Amino acid sequence: MALPIPPPVGTAMLPPDTFAGQVALVTGGGTGLGKAMAVEFARLGARVAIASRKPDHREAGCAAIAAAGTPGVGVEVDIRDPDAVTRLFTTVEAELGPVDILVNNAAGNFPVAAERMSSRAWTSVIDIVLNGTYLCSAEFARRAIERGAGGAILNIGATYAWTGGPGTSHSAAAKAAVTNLTQSHAVEWAPHGIRVNCLAPGKFPHGDLPEQLLALQDPEADARRIPAGRVGEPHELGWAATYLCSPFASYLTGHTLVLDGANWLRRGLVMPEFVPVADQLREMR
Ligand code: NAP
Repeated sequence: MALPIPPPVGTAMLPPDTFAGQVALVTGGGTGLGKAMAVEFARLGARVAIASRKPDHREAGCAAIAAAGTPGVGVEVDIRDPDAVTRLFTTVEAELGPVDILVNNAAGNFPVAAERMSSRAWTSVIDIVLNGTYLCSAEFARRAIERGAGGAILNIGATYAWTGGPGTSHSAAAKAAVTNLTQSHAVEWAPHGIRVNCLAPGKFPHGDLPEQLLALQDPEADARRIPAGRVGEPHELGWAATYLCSPFASYLTGHTLVLDGANWLRRGLVMPEFVPVADQLREMR
């Protein structure tokens, strides 16, 4: 017995006009989970902007949004660059209108043992996940405060923010900081009508994962490994994201919602033998 399979993709959870007249900006919204979340915002009436570096990713995101019923725009950005982030918001404002909802989804991650990690790899992941999230959030808040408009920010975290992650010390440290930023920003910006929450996904495989991570996917084994008896479906994350940014969550801010089938809480009475991360990564090759 596993936790139930969710209703199928395309099922409405919120009223269809929940985000009518609003603009949602999703960083990294052209692939994987960002795309799944962008689609749910579009399905509920938002005009959606997809921001990322690669044109083919942005095109895929815009096509998915259009299929959900609302035309979207793709805007090129590297969120590590403060000037590019400013240009991003200016472009979205010109094309769709001021941004009401920001989803800080863009991330970089690749497993590597800490002692083998190059300083470039460390800096790159911290720059994208932590600095990029901060730069986009601050730009969003400055503009929303100036307009007196309020809004919602959703950061995408990860459960290894609390546990650390073998082979992912760069990403785990950055996600821990993002969880923390969520709390600081929620307090600072509540007086301006801006809510800030975080969504921490568990295992949500999708076709856009890099090869190294795709090779690790094994649905049958995952069904035995995860207490829920299954992995997450990307549209489930989309439902959670839209709820957290919707008026139905108006009193909810500074919160991190974990959507992972109880996976990060699991413990055995007797733990399995410890395998050093370098050996785990060698086995993955
Ligand atoms: P993904 O497919 O690798 O997506 C990452 C996205 O970020 C890409 O669309 C990429 O687009 C964009 N991006 C990367 N660097 C960027 C930069 N410097 N500037 C702008 N955009 C950039 O990852 P995912 O699996 O969908 O994950 C989405 C989020 O969920 C991430 O925050 C991730 O940490 C989190 N998460 C995922 C899982 C999971 O099971 N999949 C589990 C826990 C947490 P470009 O290459 O076009 O720039």
